[in-house]
Amino acid sequence: PQLANQIAAGEVVERPASVIKELVENSLDAGATRVDIEIEKGGSKLIKIQDNGSGIAKEQLALALSRHATSKLASLDDLDAILSFGFRGEALASISSVSRLTLTSRTAEQTEAWQAYAEGSDMAVKVMPAAHPVGSTVEAVDLFFNTPARRRFLKSDKTEFTHIDEWLKRIALVRKEIHFTLKHNGKMVRNYRPAMSDTQYLQRLAQVSGKQFSEQALRVDCSHNGLQLSGYIQSPHFDATSSDTQYFYVNGRLVRDRLVNHAVRQAFAQQLAGVQVGYVLMLTLDPHQVDVNVHPAKHEVRFHESRYVHDFILQALQSALTQAES
Ligand code: ADP
Ligand code: MG
Repeated sequence: PQLANQIAAGEVVERPASVIKELVENSLDAGATRVDIEIEKGGSKLIKIQDNGSGIAKEQLALALSRHATSKLASLDDLDAILSFGFRGEALASISSVSRLTLTSRTAEQTEAWQAYAEGSDMAVKVMPAAHPVGSTVEAVDLFFNTPARRRFLKSDKTEFTHIDEWLKRIALVRKEIHFTLKHNGKMVRNYRPAMSDTQYLQRLAQVSGKQFSEQALRVDCSHNGLQLSGYIQSPHFDATSSDTQYFYVNGRLVRDRLVNHAVRQAFAQQLAGVQVGYVLMLTLDPHQVDVNVHPAKHEVRFHESRYVHDFILQALQSALTQAES
């Protein structure tokens, strides 16, 4: 199983940021409201994720580290989710095959915590008692220590950190109710406190995109026929410089889409021609109206009624801009 896991790891685990993505998604799936991320040397030395989610029961711990042991295959509907994410139930097994991984967890029903780690080439899992509050901690040490070719592909600590930081921004902007922290080499570098109000969300936006962006951002909030668009766009008046704050989410997933880009550019065509306009926008629509599995890695989507979605976005942005004028 070691080799199969390492091959699977090639798809799941490209670099520290992809490990963190998988682990944090698990924490969020487990209902965590707080996720603390700790890394050393850009994540190549240590990746540690602690959450306050549901935890994993002692008898499930070893299973969680084995391949295709997902507990999330509840209904046929989930098959859609599986297709769209490309794989399911192999993240922990894959990561543990290319690092020294320990999983420590406690459920609310248990009075004590347990820790599991995979040992040796047959990946036999050992479980022993530990101390931990309700929730889980996954610790992956020495990523790719046993796959030197892949380890050589890692970039500098700074570059790997930047990938992690950028991924965290993406998730922090859309999971606003979650408290995220990030520590690098012992120093707290990000602290996204839960954003329960617009004011608190603007503070989070300032952390991600800078004070200038958040102070002049225009609110977008528009719904029509089952489509809803909310978030913030750059004001054309205060700031005519390009912004690299460009985040568009469809039903909570970050998307890079030409149709969306086109609608944004068109909305700003008069005020800011040629400028990269900044935005953080969430589009919500009936999941049956969109295919998200076009290309998971490239964040592409396909809207069934693409013209309609395009025009809705355009109008929502135009109305936010017009309101700002008056
Ligand atoms: P998947 O997320 O696709 O189910 P993973 O390999 O990522 O597969 O995780 C395997 C299983 O381990 C999950 O289905 C879940 O039951 C459990 N698990 C992993 N991480 C956590 C966590 N942080 N909190 C609670 N359960 C977890
Ligand atoms: Mg997972």
